[in-house]
Amino acid sequence: MLKPSSESTLNTEQIRADFPILQQQVHGKPLVYLDNGASTQRPIQVIQAISDVYEQCYSNVHRGGHLLSSRSTDAYEASREAIRAFIQAKSTNEIIFTPGTTFGINLVARSWGDACLKAGDEILVTEMEHHSNLIPWQQLAQRTGAVIKAIPITDEGQLDLSALPGLLTEKTKIVAMTAVSNVLGTINPVAKIVKQAHAVGAVVLVDAAQSVPHEATNVQTWDADFVAFSAHKMLGPSGLGILYGKESLLDAMPPFLGGGSMINTVTIDSFTPAMLPAKFEAGTPPIAQAIALKAAIDYLTDVGMENILQHEQNLTQHAHQRLTEIEGLRILGPAPELKAGLVSFDIKGMNPRDIAGILDTQGVAVREGHHCAIPLHQRLGISSSTRASFYLYNTLEEVDQFIEALKKATMLLG
Ligand code: PLP
Repeated sequence: MLKPSSESTLNTEQIRADFPILQQQVHGKPLVYLDNGASTQRPIQVIQAISDVYEQCYSNVHRGGHLLSSRSTDAYEASREAIRAFIQAKSTNEIIFTPGTTFGINLVARSWGDACLKAGDEILVTEMEHHSNLIPWQQLAQRTGAVIKAIPITDEGQLDLSALPGLLTEKTKIVAMTAVSNVLGTINPVAKIVKQAHAVGAVVLVDAAQSVPHEATNVQTWDADFVAFSAHKMLGPSGLGILYGKESLLDAMPPFLGGGSMINTVTIDSFTPAMLPAKFEAGTPPIAQAIALKAAIDYLTDVGMENILQHEQNLTQHAHQRLTEIEGLRILGPAPELKAGLVSFDIKGMNPRDIAGILDTQGVAVREGHHCAIPLHQRLGISSSTRASFYLYNTLEEVDQFIEALKKATMLLG
């Protein structure tokens, strides 16, 4: 874990100049965008990459025998290679373009889950999952008769690993866990849990929607079997995600969606599937989005993922310190050095919707609600919370602006 310091590791002034959307005012105040956990903004390099696709090389991929088609196919595959390198996968056959994290998890639950699970088998999730990594497993359990169990969390908002030996048995077929909680910010010990899961023969799916954008990822060090994440949370286009899967597992799995591109041979009543990764990319994919994701990855790589995590932890630490100035405020989740760049909180007697509404009038964009994690909020004894989530372009001054706006909100609501 990198040690937070008060000095910024990033040249935020230079970075912010790349993000046109951040230059605006909202409600007459400079925009302070702290809703990066929901979706980040895009630098001009990514916006330009999208427009370059449409201006220079757009065509369907892997289809036409003409120049534009081979240009767009080359760019599409170059992006797949960039993603492979970014998460340190062994092969581009392990990188599947999807519409997002949610889709990737559903793909595994349907394809791997329907083929491999039977009544009485167990699916192990955690109490801090986003609904995207909960509902597909509940649906799988409904289809197969499998049983869902959950790793509990401690009062400090970390996974209670002491419960793991009792929960992981030969009945456990899959562990579906988040790498970073979208509410608590907790960074979970993925490699440690994978090791224990593999020891009982279970596979592990990692919901990396909140980790790949914020910290360096090595899927081989994790030894995870499946990893899903979304482009829109890492400076990339919306409507695109990545599913990583170990080649041996993806190879053995039946295709999820049927249609064009995912076949090898077809007769009127049968087909044989294409090789990886095409087997899981039925139909016309999100072409421009996939190509432009490479620009986002290049941007993040240039800045450096270690620098980004360090910067976010500095912001989180500063936010933690300053939030103590507000009476009745409870920070959800562990100490800043144990979490990625976000802070969620509850203020006694105040509705997060009212808080976020007043912050908005001050130019500060945060998220309020259950953040698609209703069971976690139940565990925390609340129905909703307010979340400020940071990224590489946020500054310590913005954290201060957020705190001042929050003080105003508490005065108005108190
Ligand atoms: N998992 C986590 C931890 C998330 O934070 C999110 C989105 O907020 C998702 C999954 C779902 O991502 P998407 O909506 O891009 O499919």
